[in-house]
Amino acid sequence: DGRLIEACTKDSPPRYDWFQTETAVTVAIYTKQKDLESEFVTVDLEGSILRADILIGNYSNLLYLDLDHAVREEINVNITGIVGKIEIVLQKQDKVTWAKLGQPLDSHDSFIKRTDRGLFFRKCKLISKTSVNYNTKLFCLLLPEGVFLQVPIGQHVYLKDTIAGIEMVKPYTPVSSSLQYNSEVLSSMGDARKIFLMIKIYLDGVFTQHIDSLQIGDELYVSSPQGSFRKSKIQAVEELFLLAAGTGFTPMVKLLNHALTNNSSLRKVKLMFFNKKENDILWRSELEQLTIQDSRCEMQFVLSEPTDEWTGMKGTISLPLLSTLIERKKEPVNKMICICGPAMFTSQGMRFLEDLGFSKEEIYGFTE
Ligand code: FAD
Ligand code: NAD
Repeated sequence: DGRLIEACTKDSPPRYDWFQTETAVTVAIYTKQKDLESEFVTVDLEGSILRADILIGNYSNLLYLDLDHAVREEINVNITGIVGKIEIVLQKQDKVTWAKLGQPLDSHDSFIKRTDRGLFFRKCKLISKTSVNYNTKLFCLLLPEGVFLQVPIGQHVYLKDTIAGIEMVKPYTPVSSSLQYNSEVLSSMGDARKIFLMIKIYLDGVFTQHIDSLQIGDELYVSSPQGSFRKSKIQAVEELFLLAAGTGFTPMVKLLNHALTNNSSLRKVKLMFFNKKENDILWRSELEQLTIQDSRCEMQFVLSEPTDEWTGMKGTISLPLLSTLIERKKEPVNKMICICGPAMFTSQGMRFLEDLGFSKEEIYGFTE
């Protein structure tokens, strides 16, 4: 658990080494972490500045250097998970021999709590903007060539931009480009430099109005991933329940894709999606398609402001509604329920779920 990792790593933070050939410089970082995953590693190369942030449990280790000589823009990051080794390969601009790797910058070689490390931003380019419904758009941002960054399932990033001279920062949860997990989509999802964000544009929203006004090719800043969700929470579950309201749907997208493709014990996944009106239901046809494609999937749409024509479920989150939506089994099942939406929706929902007999460990609320 986190405390064990903390105890193990406190005395032996990662150490690094470097070597060179005529054309390349390789930085090797040894973390001693078995099963080190690529999403725990974020590398930024900007000009001659190299920054690598390695997450180990709740700790962050930073390598931050002004490199000795000029390098090309692109980087190559290789992770050998079983031995916990990271290799960052840089291409020399000129065939000169380096005497040292570089000059340490502020906080280089520091090993501190992840939450104490300030947000770090890099400039990304808006490469596409497509409508999802009448007020929500899918934005695709492209990371620079010198950046290696993966946003873990259930985690968010912060966007930063200056609006009328004031710097603003807001959190958004990346989604997959689609819910259809066929090979074509999976290969486009493999494009590690793209980040897809599904953003609702509020008529009086300061940040979202600004984001909506951006043109293709415009730039804005994206932070490193934040959040406490770990995919291990859903790794072995047999039943996964997802409760989403409005854009609280965004973390559920990657959760759904991940559970359906990587979790062999999964027998059922049920999304209960709360919205005001029918045209607020994000990716409705994609969700309906998924239930046709995969018999483990079930969707339930609940509207709080339906028209008379709506024959589906009505209302907002309540104990009676949840008890009809979530059937309780007599035999024990390995289950998990994730909930995300407006703060009141999430806090009330978490309370109702406990009333329904779910343990605290079986509930994950996106409350950050
Ligand atoms: P503001 O100028 O702050 O508010 C203007 C008006 O917008 C308000 O009067 C209200 O009518 C409405 N409004 C603003 N904030 C909210 C809110 N939080 N809930 C309901 N109504 C609101 N949003 C997305 O669209 N996609 C995401 O993936 C996403 N991920 C998030 C992840 C986290 C961890 C959190 C905490 C929030 C997330 N949000 C997401 C919400 C997002 O961060 C902003 O709050 C939202 O985009 C509104 O910003 P704004 O500056 O345009 O609105
Ligand atoms: P919305 O106003 O369109 O409401 C959608 C549904 O949420 C409603 O139909 C209703 O069923 C329910 N709801 C709304 N207010 C409620 C309340 N006070 N009590 C109980 N239920 C309520 O939603 P939206 O504009 O799409 O907002 C989505 C929210 O989700 C935002 O607050 C956003 O910040 C949050 N969000 C959080 C995260 C996260 O990771 N923490 C991620 C994405 C979105």
